[in-house]
Amino acid sequence: MSRLCSAMVKGRRAGLEMAENAKPKRNRTKTAVKHGPHKCSSSSTYHSFLDAADVVLLRSQLLGWYDKEKRELPWRTTAMTETDVNIRTYAVWVSEIMLQQTQVTTVKDYYNKWMKRWPTVHDLAAATLEEVNQMWAGLGYYSRGKRLHEGAQKVVSELKGQMPQTADSLLKQLPGVGRYTAAAIGSIALGQVTGAVDGNVIRVLCRLRAIGADSTSPAVTEALWDLANTLVDPERPGDFNQAMMELGARICTPKAPLCSQCPVQTHCRSYRKVNAKQEQNSKKLLGKMGKKPLIVPDIEDCGNTETCSLCPSEPWDDELGVLNFPRKPAKKPPRQERTLSCVVIRRQEEGEDEYLLTQRPDKGLLAGLWEFPSLLLDGENSETKQKKLLCAEISRILGTRLTESLFQSVGEVVHIFTHIHQTYIVYSVCLKDGKTQTKTDNTQWLSRSALHEAAVSTGMKKILKLSDSLDSRRQQPSTDGKRKNPLDIKTTKKVKKPRLGGINGGGKQLSLNSFFTSVKEEP
Ligand code: SF4
Ligand code: ZN
Repeated sequence: MSRLCSAMVKGRRAGLEMAENAKPKRNRTKTAVKHGPHKCSSSSTYHSFLDAADVVLLRSQLLGWYDKEKRELPWRTTAMTETDVNIRTYAVWVSEIMLQQTQVTTVKDYYNKWMKRWPTVHDLAAATLEEVNQMWAGLGYYSRGKRLHEGAQKVVSELKGQMPQTADSLLKQLPGVGRYTAAAIGSIALGQVTGAVDGNVIRVLCRLRAIGADSTSPAVTEALWDLANTLVDPERPGDFNQAMMELGARICTPKAPLCSQCPVQTHCRSYRKVNAKQEQNSKKLLGKMGKKPLIVPDIEDCGNTETCSLCPSEPWDDELGVLNFPRKPAKKPPRQERTLSCVVIRRQEEGEDEYLLTQRPDKGLLAGLWEFPSLLLDGENSETKQKKLLCAEISRILGTRLTESLFQSVGEVVHIFTHIHQTYIVYSVCLKDGKTQTKTDNTQWLSRSALHEAAVSTGMKKILKLSDSLDSRRQQPSTDGKRKNPLDIKTTKKVKKPRLGGINGGGKQLSLNSFFTSVKEEP
């Protein structure tokens, strides 16, 4: 059985962005079905919506449910009430970028703070990247904030401060905006009649039309966009698209769909198939028991399963029910990496101690963020070798020769990115000279409180937390009332694989404050 699309976590959208242009703008119309019905490449009508009355009914059922059940979200309110189209488009753009790979509940706070600080595209363009990264810290996938910033500067410098006003131009003009995001902004902020296909919508559509082929394949992708464009309500395209996403997030969920509460259940081929299979199975059983004549009902099917590019290549699994749809190819396992990381503390006689931070390169993973000095390892190394490597690196940064004995092992921190399983091997070193300077670019000393505000990644916050735990154990008096000698403390300590959702691990992200009270360590 191929893996189901369980990875389609609520709100994860960016991975679905396609390179192709969004559908061209369509005029609003009162015609029931504006777009032609989808024709699947196998010519089966089983995966399409051919009946205009069906489409009209589905729209009204879905929108009726949405009107009653929708969550009040700040960007939805702005989209409904903001009369300035430029601000409205900017606000929806910000929300859509934040919602890529991050859950709604986490995004809300970030969004409100962001819009308070930068209420217009001009305000954002005037900010520095450092400020943007700082605001983004903890939200993950940091290149998203950077792209928003770049996009705002482009809008101000090249487009006279006017946000693009069609899905097509949003796609072409703004960095980080792909097919889905352009369609979502176009329909929600600008009322363009275009479907929008994100992870939630893929799941709903695949189940509605029993599409079981690899949901990332070009044939399925195109079929889903065609379906979305067929179904979208020409009067309320933005609401319709949000309703589809909301349905996927709350009713047609990846692992436990609430079919009995589904407003579009009567249109769902998966649901019908599950019921028909159950009926068929019970009739077969009764037939075997000789209680009733064996009349087994036909199960509605594609009729073209051998050649159909939308039908599953694997057989139906009774136990999975509607979860037979959609399907995704098996994911590649994440790459294993090990990185040495050193918490360098500059003790201050008065005031807070300070921490040495270096800035990551402008491009690539965690671009531009600040981190404790780190070195990627290319194999297993002994502790002696690790200390030697770190000692050389920190000596280089400080322009002074340190001794390896100053470096203390703190433990290990595991952080999961989407494609990397990162293990940080953490050391710390305390410098008594509170005036020690650095001799390299892109470095800074930050006090503890400044570090809390800085644009540092979640992985670094975990490292700091681990280092703090060692510090606090150093401070604890022993049973004889004396302070423990730090060198007597057993320092190798592993932090459990976090359930926090990582920088690039998706899932729930925490605010900095809650973060510092929530990481659990193994005893
Ligand atoms: Fe999803 Fe069930 Fe509704 Fe079908 S009936 S769309 S499977 S929730
Ligand atoms: Zn088929």
